[in-house]
Amino acid sequence: MRKASFASRGSTIAVVGAGVIGLTTAIRLLEAGFDVTVLSRDHPTETVSAVAAAYWHPFAVAPEHRVLPWARTTYRISRRLATDPSSGVSFKPLRKYYPAGEANTYWMNAAGGYHRLPPEVLPEGATEGYELNVPVMDSSRFVPFLVTWVEDLGGAISLEEVESLASLSGRFDLVVNCAGLGARHLAEDTSVAPIRGQVLRVSNPDQLEPTVISFDVGWEKTYIVPRVSDCILGGTAHSDSWDRQPSAAQTEEILERCARLQPALKNAEIHEVLVGLRPSRPEIRLTLEEQQWGVPVIHNYGHGGAGYTVCWGCASAALSETLRISGIP
Ligand SMILES: Cc1cc2nc3c(=O)[nH]c(=O)nc-3n(C[C@H](O)[C@H](O)[C@H](O)COP(=O)(O)OP(=O)(O)OC[C@H]3O[C@@H](n4cnc5c(N)ncnc54)[C@H](O)[C@@H]3O)c2cc1C
Repeated sequence: MRKASFASRGSTIAVVGAGVIGLTTAIRLLEAGFDVTVLSRDHPTETVSAVAAAYWHPFAVAPEHRVLPWARTTYRISRRLATDPSSGVSFKPLRKYYPAGEANTYWMNAAGGYHRLPPEVLPEGATEGYELNVPVMDSSRFVPFLVTWVEDLGGAISLEEVESLASLSGRFDLVVNCAGLGARHLAEDTSVAPIRGQVLRVSNPDQLEPTVISFDVGWEKTYIVPRVSDCILGGTAHSDSWDRQPSAAQTEEILERCARLQPALKNAEIHEVLVGLRPSRPEIRLTLEEQQWGVPVIHNYGHGGAGYTVCWGCASAALSETLRISGIP
């Protein structure tokens, strides 16, 4: 039986998915000596991950007690990556504003320090504001950087659609399911559902300070993320919407909300309007299913609006699970 041969570093592992979760997981497994093939329906630059802003900040993700240590691990690893300009990772101040009664600061503890902003600097409608340093992972650079990292470690990336997890039985010793929203079909898990998000990629007007600004009013999410050579403006969050078409009305509205926070953005040139479906789930699923598919499967999906925030923590957890079931100390 295949499982017997799994107890060795050279065991073959299929990672399904080449978004930020699949790629970071593949890197951790390759570093541990496993033989990894990433199978992906979409090119890595055409995934939901490629649409994300992406700054370190949990949204629509649970449970808190697991998210916090995973986010802390990602924060720590991002510090190291930020020393390499080709990674697209940099640290920037984040100014986070909240309206009355909506402040939620639990996650800021994982950033190693934050401070409260004085009332006179808050924008209209905000009653609380905080500032902390966060990693910004410029997805246009970070995703290709991860792809190169996988390949440099000897991993293969194959563009193919997986019909079912059972179809991988006999081909691989272990499967790690990082299919994001695709897990709804692959793992037959109807609790995985989209939260549609629209963002604008715009020019970065000279006047823009290198600070991430984020102001959530309920699920109306306004954010400005200056990146290496452009700026992402967000955004929207619509549960259970599968619509991948950009909405012109939402583009206008996002621009208007962001210009209210940063007037220099009135003159920003729109390069692209992007839509992504966040893979939400009541809780991230990071567990082993040993019997169901004819091959052991470790699930790692359902990261909602926080895949970048928790990716390295979840990748390490998937590796620990792999080592545990393979009996490798
Ligand atoms: C507008 C927007 C803004 C965001 N901003 C942030 C942010 O600032 N910070 C943050 O932390 N997060 C942010 N997110 C959330 C983040 O992008 C997601 O949590 C993350 O991308 C999920 O990564 P993933 O690898 O699980 O999924 P995906 O990137 O969707 O990758 C899934 C992979 O699985 C593959 N796949 C699916 N089904 C199959 C199949 N049957 N066979 C083969 N391959 C399959 C796909 O091809 C793809 O490669 C944002 C998301 C959006 C949409």
